[in-house]
Amino acid sequence: WAKAEGRGRWAVYDPERSAADIARSALAANLPAALDRDEFVLHYQPIVSLLDGTMVAVEALVRWQHPELGLIGPDRFIGLAEETGLIVRLGAWVLRQACRDAESWRRAYPETSLVVSVNLAARQADDPAIVETVAEALQHTGLPAELLQLELTESAVMGSAGEPLRTLHQLADLGLRLAIDDFGTGYSNLAYLRRLPIHCVKLAGPFVEGIKGDGDAVADHRDERIVDALVRLAHALELSVTAEAVETEVQAERLRALRCDTGQGRLFGAPMPADGIRARLGG
Ligand code: C2E
Ligand code: MG
Ligand code: MG
Ligand code: MG
Repeated sequence: WAKAEGRGRWAVYDPERSAADIARSALAANLPAALDRDEFVLHYQPIVSLLDGTMVAVEALVRWQHPELGLIGPDRFIGLAEETGLIVRLGAWVLRQACRDAESWRRAYPETSLVVSVNLAARQADDPAIVETVAEALQHTGLPAELLQLELTESAVMGSAGEPLRTLHQLADLGLRLAIDDFGTGYSNLAYLRRLPIHCVKLAGPFVEGIKGDGDAVADHRDERIVDALVRLAHALELSVTAEAVETEVQAERLRALRCDTGQGRLFGAPMPADGIRARLGG
């Protein structure tokens, strides 16, 4: 019994929890082989101008095409990949593939200047080698740096040391764009936002979801006022603003009125394979 207490995890038997744990560690154990077997795929979601509806960028979103379980979303394995450190290798693959696809769109449609936006996990961004990984992805694929954007959450930007990552300035010096993902959900320290080489903020989905236009005037106005304040703040810092998770015309209309620059969400297109983006560029 004493032994069981010493190993707290074994003291209480919870069949559901342990089944979930087993599934989780099985997934984790399979990640490296999945990368070697090329089982990861990128889908891309349009980011459109709220002024004229043109597609100005796409966000690369990774999926795992599992041989038995089908298509698995990133929320089920990115955390695992961060815990095990595989995110560094997986992230390098994502960067390379996203740059390769973006370069092929650029070659096919040189006039479009479509930006590709890639998520960087905290652990990736904190690794000094990230600068070389990104530089290599650009060099190897030929994609001009200004067509690449990197997205980091506020907590990733602040790093484990509690101060902004050193790598950010080096990344910006490559000529690419930096965006703060899920803006408004973390600790937005104005002092650092002002000093860092950031180009864009992405307003977190929940604020946009709060804009419903279904007569719930109180809730509506509160989230609209928050979006209003965040957009003004971003613009005062000369940052462009992308609204995430835009699902309705009403939301798009309000966001346009609040001077949001670009929008992303099911209203403008769900994440799709690279061919879907190519078709949209051609159409
Ligand atoms: P995120 O960067 O905030 O990506 C936006 C998420 O919103 C995506 O989920 C997207 O599919 C989803 N979404 C799209 N349209 C709508 C909409 O209209 N309404 C709502 N409510 N949601 C919408 P997804 O693809 O499941 O990705 C989840 C998260 O996984 C991403 O959140 C990102 O943090 C992470 N992720 C995805 N790909 C990568 C990657 O290559 N590297 C890293 N480090 N993280 C990634
Ligand atoms: Mg993102
Ligand atoms: Mg986001
Ligand atoms: Mg998210």
